[in-house]
Amino acid sequence: MTSDLTRLSLAEAREGLRARKFSSVELTRAYLGAMEAARGLNAYITETPELALEQAAASDARIAAGTAGSLEGLPLAIKDLYCTKGVLTTAASHILDGFTPTYESTVTTSLWREGAVMLGKANMDEFAMGGSNENSYYGPVVNPWRRNGDTAALVPGGSSGGSAAAVAADLCVAALGTDTGGSIRQPAAFTGTVGIKPTYGRCSRFGIIAFASSLEQAGPMTKTVTDAAILLGAIAGHDPHDSTSVPVPVPDYAAALTGDLRGKKIGIPREYRVDGMSAEIEKWWQQGAEWLRAAGAEVVEVSLPHSKYALPAYYIVAPAEASSNLARYDGVRFGLRVPGKDLTEMYENTRGEGFGAEVRRRILIGTYVLSAGYYDAYYTRAQKLRRLIANDFETAFETVDAILAPTTPSAAFASGEKADPIAMYLGDVFTVTANLAGLPAMSVPAGLSAEGLPLGLQVIGKAFDEAGVLNVGYALERAAGFNAKPAAWWRA
Ligand code: GLN
Repeated sequence: MTSDLTRLSLAEAREGLRARKFSSVELTRAYLGAMEAARGLNAYITETPELALEQAAASDARIAAGTAGSLEGLPLAIKDLYCTKGVLTTAASHILDGFTPTYESTVTTSLWREGAVMLGKANMDEFAMGGSNENSYYGPVVNPWRRNGDTAALVPGGSSGGSAAAVAADLCVAALGTDTGGSIRQPAAFTGTVGIKPTYGRCSRFGIIAFASSLEQAGPMTKTVTDAAILLGAIAGHDPHDSTSVPVPVPDYAAALTGDLRGKKIGIPREYRVDGMSAEIEKWWQQGAEWLRAAGAEVVEVSLPHSKYALPAYYIVAPAEASSNLARYDGVRFGLRVPGKDLTEMYENTRGEGFGAEVRRRILIGTYVLSAGYYDAYYTRAQKLRRLIANDFETAFETVDAILAPTTPSAAFASGEKADPIAMYLGDVFTVTANLAGLPAMSVPAGLSAEGLPLGLQVIGKAFDEAGVLNVGYALERAAGFNAKPAAWWRA
């Protein structure tokens, strides 16, 4: 019974709770047990069992009283980038040692208001910088999936790798991630789960530890598209605390899931057929186009001519913003302090010891591209490219309703395989474009590679058309019928 409960989707668990087939305390205990048995995956930085059981008991009381919220009693994992009041929040960085926020992020506030239960804070790449979850001060996350007949550890993707691994291994019913350049979609693709990055401005960033503010969004990571629709509905909406959040109505996303794409046009971007893309990825991409045709859509080729500039533009804009956002970690106000003989040396010691190698690399690059003399050559040009990339999408969306692309150029890779940072950055080739253009984009599992690893398809939509994106994702999900699960070797 216990392990069965953890297999349920969020929608199924919600039904079960409402029908009183089990209680939130039972469901929460099942997850806490699964988490304990899966510590080897390192999906959580902090587990919060007491808080979870307290919240679950309160949920059971509200369900009994008939005052249940839309997420009542549902146990979630929260990426450790969200400030959670009174609960250690680390961004997976040594520099935030002992940081316990005095306030709650807006998005998590919405979750608790709807009755959700927090199981813990999910592991991630330090400050959300990375694509493999090997950059965490708290150690790497292990992908629950393995290649057929092979026990080599694979990465779960990043930066929301803990959230993705937790969803894939049934260590939570769903999770929150954040996506600055693909950090929801890429780990979703690597773990056979669903993830959506909403339109820039759809969800509040208030209380999310900042990496590159003009690119990032909160978003759900779930077992199904329906679950993503439900969770997104709970976290979307205007927030006066975030001046970039947009006051537009939030539709009923779950109600938009018909899977009927008649009258819809889907674009296949020619430029996404990049060198080095595996034949398998290409095969599943074509399969995805077939599935959408079968659901009634017309599939046409589109051109996004500036796509090749997306990675270089992203890897200038994101570090530039990071260097500015991370200037606040100085050892004075919160987190780690490493003493020195004077104030300057204290700053140097704290930042030198507190930040990991990838974060230091980005601060250096960001400071360089923003410095007088290089600003115009790098930062200004990257911003111009960003505009051209956004314009490409605008033009494409004059003729199509959504775009279908692969999420990643490969399946999950082995730990330590991409030691060269450039090799790691190249993995973001299909995801950063949506962040640069501020558009909603999701990853849906398509199938398994010949090696037995999940592969994801990506749907990119028009600004604020998450409903349309989710519905295309839903059509893919129904056609793919993906229901493979990793063998639970970590329980042995
Ligand atoms: N892999 C990308 C990076 O390292 C994306 C990170 C993210 O979306 N937070 O910047």
